[in-house]
Amino acid sequence: MPIIIKGFAASPGIGIGKVFLLDEEELIIPRHYIPREGVKREVARFKKALDKTEKEMKKDTEEMLKILGKGHARLADAYLLIIKDPLLSSDIEREITKELVNAELAVQNCLERVSHTFDLLKDEYFMERKNDIVEVGQRIIRQLLGKKKRSLSEMKEESIVVAHNLLPSDTVTLKAELVKGFCIDVGGKTSHSALLAQSLEIPAVVGLHNITAQVRSGQSVIVDGNQGEVVVDPDPQAVLNYRREREIHIQETRELTKLRDLPAQTLDGKRIELAANVESTEDCKAVLAYGCEGIGLFRTEYLFLNRKALPTEDEQFDHYSRTAKQMLPYATVFRTLDIGGDKLSNFMEGYTQEENPFLGLRGLRFGLRHPEILRTQLRALLKSSAFGKVKIMFPMVSGIEEFRQGKKILLEEMQALLEAGANLAPKIEVGAMIEVPSAAITADVLAREADFLSIGTNDLIQYTMAVDRINENVAHLYEPMHLAILRLVKMTADAARQNGKWVGMCGEMAADPKFTPLLLGLGMDEISVVPALVPRVKKIIRSTNLAEAKKLANEILSIPEVSLAQERLNRVKLTLI
Ligand code: PEP
Ligand code: MG
Repeated sequence: MPIIIKGFAASPGIGIGKVFLLDEEELIIPRHYIPREGVKREVARFKKALDKTEKEMKKDTEEMLKILGKGHARLADAYLLIIKDPLLSSDIEREITKELVNAELAVQNCLERVSHTFDLLKDEYFMERKNDIVEVGQRIIRQLLGKKKRSLSEMKEESIVVAHNLLPSDTVTLKAELVKGFCIDVGGKTSHSALLAQSLEIPAVVGLHNITAQVRSGQSVIVDGNQGEVVVDPDPQAVLNYRREREIHIQETRELTKLRDLPAQTLDGKRIELAANVESTEDCKAVLAYGCEGIGLFRTEYLFLNRKALPTEDEQFDHYSRTAKQMLPYATVFRTLDIGGDKLSNFMEGYTQEENPFLGLRGLRFGLRHPEILRTQLRALLKSSAFGKVKIMFPMVSGIEEFRQGKKILLEEMQALLEAGANLAPKIEVGAMIEVPSAAITADVLAREADFLSIGTNDLIQYTMAVDRINENVAHLYEPMHLAILRLVKMTADAARQNGKWVGMCGEMAADPKFTPLLLGLGMDEISVVPALVPRVKKIIRSTNLAEAKKLANEILSIPEVSLAQERLNRVKLTLI
């Protein structure tokens, strides 16, 4: 009997093959007490293992960066930061010394304590960090035991990798031509495993809880990276169906690459700016390779994550100016720091402790409360404008006064830089993100003073529907097609048009090609999505008639029930090839 296991769709495509179980052997941790006079020797044994693990990890990182490119340095750095953390090693040493236990058990005990603390936080970001720490701990234990993890290099035939976690170091031994998919126990859509699978362009499903315990090596499986499902022991008909779907996906991808140099223009001639959402300078290559026309959302907060100290103005300037330059002749919309909510950083410990961070000091609010951080970033961005087309956008704007305060600070920094003789672009557009209902409802006021508006549906839906965007218990209520959302999008677009400003969408709603005709009909001038989805959205734009899309949008706006509105949208024929 086939079994279907549901997880999160982490990397698109269909993979069919036999299981290659990466974590076949469970680590058996020896537990014993050591005599007081043996403590020194045991600590030395632990330190030696720590040192060796760090060296191994550094070597893996170098190899991995050669394979995946520098854009993945952040992933590897996350592990290195953990292993170098003096708190972790002193905690383990203390455990050996005080509890008089062997090094393996001391590592295990410390890991359990850290895991427990992170579990209490019930937050996706911290779950990922917990997984990272556990992974590093397991490597140290393996080193102590002299046991190597099964390596992907042992793979001899086309297979589906089933593992507890996928690590950057695994990519070093992986033979891309043999790996047809990944099924991973831990992680969410933004986990390291998901990001790695996407950059390798291999289908993946993550967050499968304990799939490693549910399958055995050699068993048949299908990985559906589009729907986030794994089928174990599929029947012949299912294999046939999935094979067909896989063929269509491969053919689509091949066909769509031909669109790279063609404009994103509707059948009746409306030119849409089709841009990309990125997080680092290293993503620029992919942006251009997929035929994006600029960056519609550069999430600057990633430069601030996984570190103890704030990035300096020079470091930020280096990052932003290189990005703006690489993107020429296209523009880059840099969003100022949107830290807070689910995006936390070590340096923030001293800044906020909030009961309800999503409704707290995040985005522009955080910047206005800590103007020294915002000013440093704005100076770096303004100076970068001499190297490319820089646009600046404030996140989490909730009304005109907040936007004015942000803009005032920006103008003050601009003035100071000009007086100091800095070379800046003569005109830098300043926009507002529309992701709080109060901003959408007053978009007419904001559009008078902003140069553009960009709709962030990820937050707009969360705040309009009162649905935490990362809470799976209420995920079924997170609904882009709710009339309230569509009305807010329309209001924002109308306000921008009436004030002669452009309006875009950079939330995930824009990344689903199914919504493209509707979004065009609602009045989007710009659409910004992850680079890999640009060809699909471009294809739909090029086969849409704007006049018809407007009719479709009006019709859908007259349907109050979500299910009926969805039904109407599903009747729109989308041709990808
Ligand atoms: C959004 O909220 O839609 C958005 C694009 O911002 P983020 O996902 O970074 O909060
Ligand atoms: Mg947002």
